[in-house]
Amino acid sequence: MSKRIVVIGSGAAGMSAASAARKASKDAEITVITEDEDIAYSPCAIPWGIEGRTGWDDIVMHDPEFYRQSRGIEVVIRTRVESVDGEKREVVAGGRTYPYDSLVVAAGGTVFVPPIEGKDLGNVFVVRTVRDGKNIQKALEGAENVVIGGAGVIGLELAVALRDMGKKVTVIEMMDQVIPRIADRDMADMVQMELESRGIEFVMKAPIQAVKGDGKVEAVTANGKDYPCDVMIFATGVRANLDIPKMLGLDIGQLNAVIASPTMNAYRRGRLVPDVFVAGDLVQCESAVMPGATMSQLGSTAVRQGIVAGTNAAGGKRVFGPVASPWVSMIGDLQIAGTGLSLGLASWYGIDVVCGKAEGLTRARYYPGGKPLTVKVLADRSTHRIVGAQIVAGEEATGRINWLTSAIVDGRTAESFLADSENAYCPPTSMVRDVVLAAVEDLCLKLSQ
Ligand SMILES: Cc1cc2nc3c(=O)[nH]c(=O)nc-3n(C[C@H](O)[C@H](O)[C@H](O)COP(=O)(O)OP(=O)(O)OC[C@H]3O[C@@H](n4cnc5c(N)ncnc54)[C@H](O)[C@@H]3O)c2cc1C
Repeated sequence: MSKRIVVIGSGAAGMSAASAARKASKDAEITVITEDEDIAYSPCAIPWGIEGRTGWDDIVMHDPEFYRQSRGIEVVIRTRVESVDGEKREVVAGGRTYPYDSLVVAAGGTVFVPPIEGKDLGNVFVVRTVRDGKNIQKALEGAENVVIGGAGVIGLELAVALRDMGKKVTVIEMMDQVIPRIADRDMADMVQMELESRGIEFVMKAPIQAVKGDGKVEAVTANGKDYPCDVMIFATGVRANLDIPKMLGLDIGQLNAVIASPTMNAYRRGRLVPDVFVAGDLVQCESAVMPGATMSQLGSTAVRQGIVAGTNAAGGKRVFGPVASPWVSMIGDLQIAGTGLSLGLASWYGIDVVCGKAEGLTRARYYPGGKPLTVKVLADRSTHRIVGAQIVAGEEATGRINWLTSAIVDGRTAESFLADSENAYCPPTSMVRDVVLAAVEDLCLKLSQ
């Protein structure tokens, strides 16, 4: 009998798992169950979908019919999984029972909304799905003032999109800098200045206290002051969705996410569960920087984990390694990218770091169109290992942050990176000696002092 594989969730992790399972097994019966109405889309594009820069149909790449016809995968949409029985190996959803031989749990995350008065008023949103994006877009018709709660990357991407739509945008953040967890203040300040120059207002060090209104939001209170608004969006962080893992009794780690083996199997009471795989935002990963767990919660990580989980669910053999979690965002005219630890995360993990930094251009000085490029690299003071990096640039941040990510994952010291690293060059694409190398040279100098 062919193997029955059930995947819960149709996001980046779930659909990657289903497709990888099909590649690994021609005859497996593969069923994806999801409460979403749209599948196989990138939530990363939602801010631009709301703005209208990309169409909703462009974001959603395939529908269930595509998966049925071209990959032999059944996708059951608008159907919530109500229960899972790990002993009987059965999933119950929409009144039907789906028996499985292998189960992939890819139920993602949920937006954390602080438990405050008025959070359920009309025109108060979170942003996670295409449906959320469409609802926000509709509510914005005729709206003038928008408050965004949270100055993380998603909050800032939304702020720019809504400002470009002509809205008056106020971002309220409880910390004292934007992108507080994963970016350092000096790098984050460049981004905040760019956004302020576009007319976006920031209210910092201000935990949101209440959302006020009569049926619909009319104002948001922070630091004792009311900020009038017609639409409010919470972009206040993501938590692992543990409903299904708890039904299965899977082990939850210290970061309140599911513990997974390198094969993406889950554990129950410390023992590997051979027929249950997990992937995506509900999983805690092993860090490439220091021994221990970290949260990645990136689309790129979800796809990689999904491929490993799906392949192994179908009987294949793949492993998922430790992560540095490189990220990049386009915020206004600036790209900001990071990898590994920020100063804040390093201090949280108790790692004493030294920083090197350099500024230059994305092209040769004489070549037209070059944009400013700032690179910062962090190393462990005692081992000299590179543990993190951040880039703010007018263009071309992605390749550079990926380069530094490889250095982190390979455990390179600043000195060995400087000695061995080469950069490709031509005047329209970089300086002859890339700014990354200048930053690492500065780092080596500081480490030697
Ligand atoms: C606005 C936005 C911008 C982002 N930008 C970036 C970016 O630029 N780069 C990047 O790398 N990452 C980005 N991310 C993060 C990235 O989108 C997520 O890390 C990724 O989508 C996680 O994928 P996932 O499959 O784990 O979860 P999800 O995409 O959340 O999928 C979870 C799935 O599980 C289903 N589900 C949950 N519970 C049940 C149940 N009980 N029954 C049935 N189905 C269920 C849901 O319906 C959904 O289909 C962004 C996220 C957002 C929201």
